[in-house]
Amino acid sequence: MSLMITDECINCDVCEPECPNNAISQGEEIYVIDPNLCTQCVGHYDEPQCQQVCPVDCIPLDPSHPETQEELYQKYLVISGKA
Ligand code: SF4
Ligand code: SF4
Repeated sequence: MSLMITDECINCDVCEPECPNNAISQGEEIYVIDPNLCTQCVGHYDEPQCQQVCPVDCIPLDPSHPETQEELYQKYLVISGKA
């Protein structure tokens, strides 16, 4: 399951450089996460790095993109060119 950024985002830019998959970018109004690139940090870290650094806790799991741990790991392998 990828994560999503809610409209509570204050555009502080802290999360973007922390993402190991370059899944976070500045959207039209707030920062956004590409669900095709977010692995919940599986393959890189034990915890989602963006959630760890967000000062306003506005990065929950996105229920519209359900994925198992195995699917997230397979996504990581493809994104990182290891598949
Ligand atoms: S959970 Fe990890 S991979 Fe997903 S957007 Fe946050 S930092 Fe990037
Ligand atoms: S860290 Fe949180 S508030 Fe800052 S840009 Fe990212 S989602 Fe928005």
